[in-house]
Amino acid sequence: MQYEAVIGIECHVELKTKSKMFCACPNRFGGEPNAQVCPVCLALPGALPVANEEAILQVIRAGLAFGAEIPAFSKFDRKNYFYPDMPKDYQISQYDMPLAQGGIVRYWLEDGTTKECRLTRIHLEEDTGKSTHAGSGDGRIAHSRYSLLDFNRAGVPLMECVSEPDIRSAEEAVGFLEALKRTFVQLGVSDVKMEEGSLRCDANVSIRPVGSKDFGTKAEIKNMNSFRSVYRAIESEIARQIAVVAPGGRVMQETRGWDELAGTTHSMRSKEEAHDYRYFPDPDLVPIEVDRTVVARLRSLMADLPIARFERYRESYGLGVAQATQLVDTPQLAEYFDSCVGAGGGGQQAANFVLGDLSRLANETQTPVWESSVAPQDLAELIGLVESKTINSKIAKDLLLRMWNGGGSPKALVEHEGLAQTSDPGAVERFVDEVVAAHPKVVADYKAGKTNVMGFLVGQVMKQSRGKANPALAGELLAQKLG
Ligand code: ADP
Ligand code: MG
Ligand code: ZN
Repeated sequence: MQYEAVIGIECHVELKTKSKMFCACPNRFGGEPNAQVCPVCLALPGALPVANEEAILQVIRAGLAFGAEIPAFSKFDRKNYFYPDMPKDYQISQYDMPLAQGGIVRYWLEDGTTKECRLTRIHLEEDTGKSTHAGSGDGRIAHSRYSLLDFNRAGVPLMECVSEPDIRSAEEAVGFLEALKRTFVQLGVSDVKMEEGSLRCDANVSIRPVGSKDFGTKAEIKNMNSFRSVYRAIESEIARQIAVVAPGGRVMQETRGWDELAGTTHSMRSKEEAHDYRYFPDPDLVPIEVDRTVVARLRSLMADLPIARFERYRESYGLGVAQATQLVDTPQLAEYFDSCVGAGGGGQQAANFVLGDLSRLANETQTPVWESSVAPQDLAELIGLVESKTINSKIAKDLLLRMWNGGGSPKALVEHEGLAQTSDPGAVERFVDEVVAAHPKVVADYKAGKTNVMGFLVGQVMKQSRGKANPALAGELLAQKLG
């Protein structure tokens, strides 16, 4: 029997706001433990929360980016649970009236195919503090002598995106998460750094026979800390479930943890131990009335999403998936590329320069391309010179280096220094004659059938002409002379 996977993702994203969700403490990663705290985020008795408008607007923008519905009313609820690192022992979250409902995330895979995954909802809640279990070797709580608590993260605004079970493979899950990441980076709502914990996700995985319409029982996988581990965890979980179901067994509904070293998932708790969170509206917070004119304004300000840009790069300029992805993944680089193309630079050439020579120079000099002294218009001009065959690609590389070092307009450089490529047969022929005269032994080798010395001879012509000879013409003339 052939099985297919059914996957739904729950993704938590820490928002990049000035202050925390319900108090005025700074929302800053790291720092001296417990230095960014106040009575509200420490949950001291009598402290009252005030909702952060900036965070609410960011969630609305995230929803609008995916075409979600933004209901006119929303509210905060208490989710009750024993949270060891949240002293209120409830989390302020949203239950039945989230800020955003529905929507569709469009994403692409490595082979360039595009896919869609529906969103169930996006809601807003607060992050917990952070505990570090210490006092013994392996850090697991059972063996720890004590735990250290840092409340700097407590109360940081956390946006939760829940997907419909539309995803069918580990590869699609990663493609979906990458789309979320790119979009949130572009919207500026989060840094989305998995290594800093600002994006955390759980994957719900089930399998079913191919062709079946019914869903199988799902397991929820936690503890993945990179997109790579999301991929591996899902692959491993699909294989485990098939090994259970194929001989006639049944998958249990449970929460499973991913073990990065072992490369497997393990049971953490079963459905029977599932929590009853006893949600109820938070009486300390007024319901949110979402102003329609604000929503309309935010919608009108929405720029093209990364997927739209990706498709434009593929369709209008014929860029490959890797190049289009690389550009889209760094919005400033994509904007630089757009300006260059807007100034007349051919798309493929512009992508080659931006992702090739310019990115290498950027790495070497620790200066982003978009902050360098090569203006996108200058690059377009350089591309024009290459396309009109005024200069060859070797000279173009040299010029680019000089432009990077503050050289200015490539046209001016070419004119000023007489760098234009020589396609005048007479001029190139003179260089060819010089080279033939200077290398009698190589010429003899060539005539004796060692035709692979041609590259050397063309190279000598290029050298003799200080890079200006048209290399194709030089090759033709050499072949004629020696043939
Ligand atoms: P729960 O009540 O267990 O939290 P939800 O219905 O809220 O489950 O769904 C949580 C996540 O699990 C969602 O992302 C949803 O798309 C996904 N999901 C639901 N059913 C399945 C299934 N049978 N297989 C895979 N994922 C599922
Ligand atoms: Mg749920
Ligand atoms: Zn605080």
